[in-house]
Amino acid sequence: MPNINIVPLGAGQDVGRSCILVSIGGKNIMLDCGMHMGYNDERRFPDFSYISRSGRLTQHLDCVLISHFHLDHCGALPYFSEMVGYDGPIYMTHPTKAIAPILLEDYRKITVERKGETNFFTSQMIKDCMKKVIPINLHQSIKVDDELEIKAYYAGHVLGAVMFHMKVGTESVVYTGDYNMTPDRHLGSAWIDKCKPNVLITESTYATTIRDSKRCRERDFLKKVHDCIDKGGKVLIPVFALGRAQELCILLETYWDRMNLKAPIYFSTGLTEKANHYYKLFITWTNQKIKNTFVQRNMFEFEHIKAFDRSYIDQPGPMVVFATPGMLHAGLSLQIFKKWASNENNMVVIPGYCVAGTVGHKVLAGQKKIELDKKNVVCHG
Ligand SMILES: [Zn+2]
Repeated sequence: MPNINIVPLGAGQDVGRSCILVSIGGKNIMLDCGMHMGYNDERRFPDFSYISRSGRLTQHLDCVLISHFHLDHCGALPYFSEMVGYDGPIYMTHPTKAIAPILLEDYRKITVERKGETNFFTSQMIKDCMKKVIPINLHQSIKVDDELEIKAYYAGHVLGAVMFHMKVGTESVVYTGDYNMTPDRHLGSAWIDKCKPNVLITESTYATTIRDSKRCRERDFLKKVHDCIDKGGKVLIPVFALGRAQELCILLETYWDRMNLKAPIYFSTGLTEKANHYYKLFITWTNQKIKNTFVQRNMFEFEHIKAFDRSYIDQPGPMVVFATPGMLHAGLSLQIFKKWASNENNMVVIPGYCVAGTVGHKVLAGQKKIELDKKNVVCHG
């Protein structure tokens, strides 16, 4: 009988704060170390005191594996390594190691500088945390110690995302994190060796929902955006900095070209420039089509999509704006939403998942009147 123990400190019956403890053959592994976007108190991080009451985490954990750079999978990592005190090995891929600190810094800024919270990790802590990370390559078997072996497989989803196969003796576990079985416009599909793990831990955010075929959804998206622009309206698309954003940019860019549209498309800067830089740097992680066309034309340099400036918010006329964060819970996307929501010609398209408690979630749930704080209420059509 295999002796495998699994405890979700986050995710589980919830979406967000992914963090799963796996005990296999006497080895203890933490899978992801995420934060929850729906909370502003201590519930935003997993309850690490569960691992060890004495606080001696390094002795209790053999390693931490991070599947990809989304904050619900790595947002608690600097807190865990620099404030709670875990000092053991942390593994992630090269793209994740390059991109995660950018998102963590952005998250820190919003929390500390805009919301004025104290007792949060600092920029220096993010840097110190990243220094402890051991980068791994696809299909590279790594011996964490004499008994524990890990191997990473391509997961699609976002740049650098992987699934993990971990093995001790004859016992093994596969953890998928977020993954895609169909290639999209910029990434390939997930792939793993034939294997028979004792346990498979898999993401299932949309498992009980039958989603429209991708092409239908894309056509519908383009039609709605086009109709809105034709009426002179403004389209706000709240996105995560990386991932779907790039895919939707490629989609709109191609459509604008084909239909000869003139309305401006903007992408909030800073994060985007950095994001595109990393996509170029890690081009081997994208799909074959992009790799092939990359020589002639850089897919991540857009003709129709330009940098956004805050002053454009009040500009008249139609426009499409991609802005972070994706769940409308803070920052630029929320600022634009507040300004545009009351005009019925305008539209908001929410391409990603929104955690309960966020403004994005309320919009998706069909609420027409949203209380942002004690003073501000937004009504939208
Ligand atoms: Zn993800």
